[in-house]
Amino acid sequence: MAETVSRRIVLHFPNEILDKPIVFILVKEFELVFNILKAFVVPDEEGLMVMELSGTSENLQKGLDYLKSRNVRIEPLKQSIVRLDDRCYQCGLCTGVCPSGALSLKRPSMEVEFDSDKCVLCGACVEICPARAMKIAF
Ligand code: SF4
Ligand code: SF4
Repeated sequence: MAETVSRRIVLHFPNEILDKPIVFILVKEFELVFNILKAFVVPDEEGLMVMELSGTSENLQKGLDYLKSRNVRIEPLKQSIVRLDDRCYQCGLCTGVCPSGALSLKRPSMEVEFDSDKCVLCGACVEICPARAMKIAF
């Protein structure tokens, strides 16, 4: 009997395929089981979905290949994102790339707030932060 394997991944769905039954096909065609951990739509841009996908390694690979063929970008799930507050100098760059609003400017103080409950673990802030204040915690 084939062993079941699981992968935790972040999927970026381009805007033009948001209404397509992509996840349904993963189940129907590749017999994969999914558990959606978080989902978020950036209006007019993309949909983000954090999920655990399980199946035989062969089917899992076929499913991932199918997603790529539909222009879905796949990233491995970062376990959690933390902010090192003593490094952050409030430049605000991260608020421009955060798709879920987890990083936002608080008005009128203009301080950058981090709400980890809204974070979809995409890692964009880690890449852009000049102070290396946003970190992946495993
Ligand atoms: S990009 Fe980095 S330094 Fe700038 S506000 Fe965001 S966390 Fe702070
Ligand atoms: S990883 Fe960073 S940019 Fe991505 S959702 Fe979380 S806080 Fe926002």
